[in-house]
Amino acid sequence: MHKTIAIACAVLALLPLAAAAVTVTTPQGPQEVFARGDLVDAVALLRLAGVEVAFAPAAGSYSAAAGEHEVQFTPGGSLAVVDGRLTPLPGPLRLLDGHTVCAQATAAVLLAPFGWTVRAAGSGFELAHAAAGDAITVTAVRAPAGTTLVVRGSAQRPQVVAAAGSVLLQFAKPVTLAQPIAPDAELLGGELRGNALTLRLARGSEVVNTYPLDNPPRFIIQLGAAAAAAPIATPRSGPLVVLDPGHGGDDQGAKGPGSELEKDITLAVARAVAAKLQSEGVNARLTRDGDDTVALTERTAIANRLQATVFVSIHANASPARGAHGAETYYMSADASDQQAAQSAARENASASPDTVQLILWDLAHVANLNNSARLARDIQERLNELQGIKDRGIRQAPFVVLTGATMPAALVEVGFLSNAEEAARLAQPDTQQQIAGAIADAIVAYLHEPTPTPGTTPAPAASPAGTPTP
Ligand SMILES: [Zn+2]
Repeated sequence: MHKTIAIACAVLALLPLAAAAVTVTTPQGPQEVFARGDLVDAVALLRLAGVEVAFAPAAGSYSAAAGEHEVQFTPGGSLAVVDGRLTPLPGPLRLLDGHTVCAQATAAVLLAPFGWTVRAAGSGFELAHAAAGDAITVTAVRAPAGTTLVVRGSAQRPQVVAAAGSVLLQFAKPVTLAQPIAPDAELLGGELRGNALTLRLARGSEVVNTYPLDNPPRFIIQLGAAAAAAPIATPRSGPLVVLDPGHGGDDQGAKGPGSELEKDITLAVARAVAAKLQSEGVNARLTRDGDDTVALTERTAIANRLQATVFVSIHANASPARGAHGAETYYMSADASDQQAAQSAARENASASPDTVQLILWDLAHVANLNNSARLARDIQERLNELQGIKDRGIRQAPFVVLTGATMPAALVEVGFLSNAEEAARLAQPDTQQQIAGAIADAIVAYLHEPTPTPGTTPAPAASPAGTPTP
């Protein structure tokens, strides 16, 4: 008997590539998933729950995202970043035969933010919605101005990702389809996977606008002809730049003496950068294209979900020193390079509370990106210096929450000081906004054309005169 077990073990040890599988019961039926002993494929479980999982080779980490939630984890790690917060895992994630595996308790922590549970069931596992969810219906309503798709039965405001021929609605909390989607001339069909509803659209039809309505709660997707598309085009291939107009909605950001609002200036500049990039054949998307409130952590989550090549957050500064003027470019660091950098970060972080430990750990996990982020920031600052006739201003580092968790090179630009009356008046002018946007777009294009340094090399030190080199 013991001998048989010993032989069996020896055979298993000699066949490391023999994949073991376990049955996972899901709402869609049983599925086979890689497992070994108590360890089960964490990425496969997340995907079965309809969560989008992407691996960022530069960062060496996974980003799992659905709705407003994002979980980042690293093979070999015992920590995850759950919705921007560092979270200890019950057990480590390990790499086995190319699969990222963990114990059931760890998988449960990774699935929980998305409203899913996993428990042992028989010799396998059961994957289930934590809650039954909103029962939704989708109908196409024809009107002279065009067709609208109406999602009824949920007060949730889903994240919308429009692509050629389809639109993805990612709900934060579980939803179920109350009835199958009836095909229409413009709505060909749809399917629900986890909390993600994909609607297939007729050729030539695309999303023009989306918005929620109340009493009863509905979510409206306005369709239009592809020719009448929104100013921001759908990404095709090649690099994708995600531009983040700072603040918006309830959060107006800094305010100038002439009532210039940061949230308006950042949107105007970001739109102009996107237009300039697209005129040069570079795909660009905005984290908001209206006066919307978007959480800081959601902004990088959008970039991660779209697997953006670079992320640039656009802001305008304010300082108690009235004479402060000119643009400044920052990249992520746990430590501010100088006191003014620290003040800028504190102001921009006002709508979130940074956890220093979290920032330090995240910073260290992204050393490869820091190098490229520094290069991106330097390219932007050099062109803004040229534009504004400033000789010696370098890039700075500071712990900006909006840059935490970006799995791609990321920078934050303060285009000027709204606390300076003259500069505030200039920044509110479309001409100035176009010039600044042109400089930022040129810098991004230059960055994309530079050869990428080998990941893992030492990050370039900040060029700031008061710069603290990254540890
Ligand atoms: Zn700001």
